[in-house]
Amino acid sequence: MTSKRKLEENLDGNKVSSKKSVPFWKTGLLSSMHDPELQVYKDDKLIIIKDKYPKAKYHFLVMPKENIPNLKSLKKENIDLLKHMHEKGKEMAEKSDADLKFRLGYHAVPSMSQLHLHVISQDFDSPCLKNKKHWNSFTTEYFVDSEEIIKELEKNGKVVKDVASSQELLKKDLRCHVCKKEMKTIPALKTHIKEHSYKKS
Ligand code: AMP
Ligand code: ZN
Repeated sequence: MTSKRKLEENLDGNKVSSKKSVPFWKTGLLSSMHDPELQVYKDDKLIIIKDKYPKAKYHFLVMPKENIPNLKSLKKENIDLLKHMHEKGKEMAEKSDADLKFRLGYHAVPSMSQLHLHVISQDFDSPCLKNKKHWNSFTTEYFVDSEEIIKELEKNGKVVKDVASSQELLKKDLRCHVCKKEMKTIPALKTHIKEHSYKKS
């Protein structure tokens, strides 16, 4: 007997069929964690991989070894782990290019399962950055700084990110993340952002 499947779309724009439980494509990070081509660091608590579809010159994902599906699953006991993920992410950014600006943060509405901290350089210079959803997921309130998440967990013992679904990312304007100028298209935006410097001042 065949199970009923529905079509979903991940942030990389692929229409993917899924079962009602955890769709198989959402678990891709769990296998990539152990892929020697992608893994760049590991210790007893976490693994760092290169993002398979990097949205900037440098784009890493820091993941805990223990099973933590998402921000909502976080508890006070995880504060030290989040701090460790932040420190190791920062080290990876420094090692990649100490002069380049990076942000470390989480998607308020992630598409993939298993908690992952994005460490992403702010040039957004990558052929994998293709659409409005990609852009707005890294440059609006959908991208929440790691330090803000840690503070919220310290204060409230949980993380509640009240943003609408990722479909809302399509309704937002397309704006340069540096000067906030509104751009009409992704190609125009990609040309425009080359005008800015992403070096630490
Ligand atoms: P998020 O929206 O926070 O869930 O982002 C998931 C990230 O994982 C995106 O930046 C994707 O480019 C990346 N990604 C998707 N599938 C894989 C995979 N199989 N291995 C490594 N990275 C992936
Ligand atoms: Zn600009």
